[in-house]
Amino acid sequence: MRPAFGRLFGAAVMCVLLLLAGCGGGERFAATSTISGCMDPSEARSADIRRHLRALRRAPICYRRQEVREGGHHWVFHLLEHTKAADGPFWVLPHDNENTAFDAGVHALLTYGGGLLAVDTGGRRSHFGQDPNRNFSSSRAESRLCGAQRRPAPVFTRAILDHYRAGKRKGRGPYLTLHNNGDGHSGNGGYGNISMARVELGLSRWPGAAIGSRALRDEDNLVFMASTRPAASDPATRRQIAALNRAGINVIHKRVTSGNFDCSLSDYIARHRLGDYYNLEAQHGARGTQIEMVDRLLAVLGVRPVKAKPRSSPFLE
Ligand SMILES: [Zn+2]
Repeated sequence: MRPAFGRLFGAAVMCVLLLLAGCGGGERFAATSTISGCMDPSEARSADIRRHLRALRRAPICYRRQEVREGGHHWVFHLLEHTKAADGPFWVLPHDNENTAFDAGVHALLTYGGGLLAVDTGGRRSHFGQDPNRNFSSSRAESRLCGAQRRPAPVFTRAILDHYRAGKRKGRGPYLTLHNNGDGHSGNGGYGNISMARVELGLSRWPGAAIGSRALRDEDNLVFMASTRPAASDPATRRQIAALNRAGINVIHKRVTSGNFDCSLSDYIARHRLGDYYNLEAQHGARGTQIEMVDRLLAVLGVRPVKAKPRSSPFLE
């Protein structure tokens, strides 16, 4: 094979490997997604992981680093997966400034197995002007619906979504995410942008029963769900909401349409009808409450904690 042909052939293979975006799509460079092998969590350059290093190193955890280059952005994802209970729930954490959500994610990982993916944007919400949770779209036409997405991001979108369906999970579980929000609602003189006390057009609110800790009823602590039908006229969604409410959890539901689709992960999953979606929103710092929400949500979904291995007794040996 002559070198020039070899390069050409190599480029063609790369185009196939590198998915759809870069090849003839008008971008200067092909979009890429790469992922490392398992490493010790201590190798992660992440303040979030460092906070939990001792607990993570005591557990059977595979840490991998994924990098996506697309649309002029270089994204870094930290992946933590339980190797003994790989089929457990999988969580995505799109915002790097939401440390309480990361702590709740580690609790979920160590208690129920499964895995989590955390987007690393240097501790900030946005990454060079692009909010990672407004970066989900699979085409230029879809991206045009969203004011907050600067360029279409099919490789970013697929790189994240594929983890929900990977390995032993095989797409069985629901789509789970964790977020934190500010106290109150900016429209009511508060700081957050999502609250049980103020729901915008297209959203409906379903308060939880008075069960569990009082903080569960706080306006900022809720499960956010999304689908293309109004919750009130969809029996399956109504049943899911009722079960969460009985477990003491507030719910806000968004009916996603082409008019209000915003390129968030929730809207993307709803628009493409990928499956059930639950985003656990808790106020920044409400660590115990968000952990209680994880436990209550997973109990409603029938997910059991990973059984601890019984310690062998020295007297029996
Ligand atoms: Zn968030």
